[in-house]
Amino acid sequence: MSAPCKHTVVRIVSRDEDAEYVECQACGEIFDSIEYEDMEREEKAAAEAALERDADV
Ligand SMILES: [Zn+2]
Repeated sequence: MSAPCKHTVVRIVSRDEDAEYVECQACGEIFDSIEYEDMEREEKAAAEAALERDADV
């Protein structure tokens, strides 16, 4: 079982008027950058929540 790709290394592959597409350099998946930013935000929120939990103990 392999860990799911976190898409940490991406590059912009195409761009149009209101969307930008990025490609993950690790797995080759392409998604729009808005989607990618959402993923980053969620991951950051999860990391911060974990930190807060640790701080409370
Ligand atoms: Zn990936």
